Amino acid sequence: MQLRKVTAASAAVLALALAATACGSDDKDDSASGGGKKITIGIKIDQPGIGLKTPDGKYTGFDVDVATYVAKELGYDAKNIEFKETKSQDRETAISRGDVKFIVASYSINDERLKKVDFAGPYLLAHQDILVRADDDSIKKPEDLNNKKLCSVTGSTSAQNIHDTLAPKADLQEYGGYSECLTGLENKAVDALTTDDSILAGYASQDVNKGKFKLAGFKMTNENYGIGLKKGDADLKKKINDALTKMVSDGSWQKAVDANFGPAGYKNEKAPKIGNVVK
Ligand code: GLU
Repeated sequence: MQLRKVTAASAAVLALALAATACGSDDKDDSASGGGKKITIGIKIDQPGIGLKTPDGKYTGFDVDVATYVAKELGYDAKNIEFKETKSQDRETAISRGDVKFIVASYSINDERLKKVDFAGPYLLAHQDILVRADDDSIKKPEDLNNKKLCSVTGSTSAQNIHDTLAPKADLQEYGGYSECLTGLENKAVDALTTDDSILAGYASQDVNKGKFKLAGFKMTNENYGIGLKKGDADLKKKINDALTKMVSDGSWQKAVDANFGPAGYKNEKAPKIGNVVK
């Protein structure tokens, strides 16, 4: 009897211990098996030059390089990073729920988002722009968008800005990702695609898209890319900011810019100062 009780108790302890190791993929340390600490990072997977999952399952882009550098500074080997797609509309939820440790996904810092998450950075300054078909000369200034069919993405500042200020009368279609908008633009389902110039330049320069599209070059807003993390995690924010500062000072930031934006001919702004959000 006594023995049975003890066995039941230790079974309960074992179950608890198993549950504890099973939950949360972040910070899991299996260094005992030579694996090292694991981390899950939110990323875009359909934005060439920024965050792209290639057919062979690899991740490329400026955000991927920034994420990998920061993770390394935090003590995580590249092989122990699990990249997880975080679409524009899912980012705040993914952070609050703890699905990801942080997000590097063309994620602009703004007041609305700061109510729910914190941001390290900024690490890049981009601008909202317009992509049209190469033979379309009908959009000469942002106001011309007001009688056009426009595509952007749900949960993005790009869609919000069109609604609020840039072209409130435009017929705005909101899709789940910019690659879907690009298909719509090619098929003439929409007249223009709007988001950050950094993203549009990547699409326009892809081999399959050569000669099909052009950027308007309107620079309609400032998009300060930050690394999104759990609200109130001041320690993580400081560590990420220190990593970003180092990435700029040791030349890795410029290297990543050249490698990822060079092929697209994207003329990026110089590295932002940490904490300096350009309004
Ligand atoms: N940077 C903008 C944003 O954070 C547009 C790009 C995106 O949707 O990721 O909403």
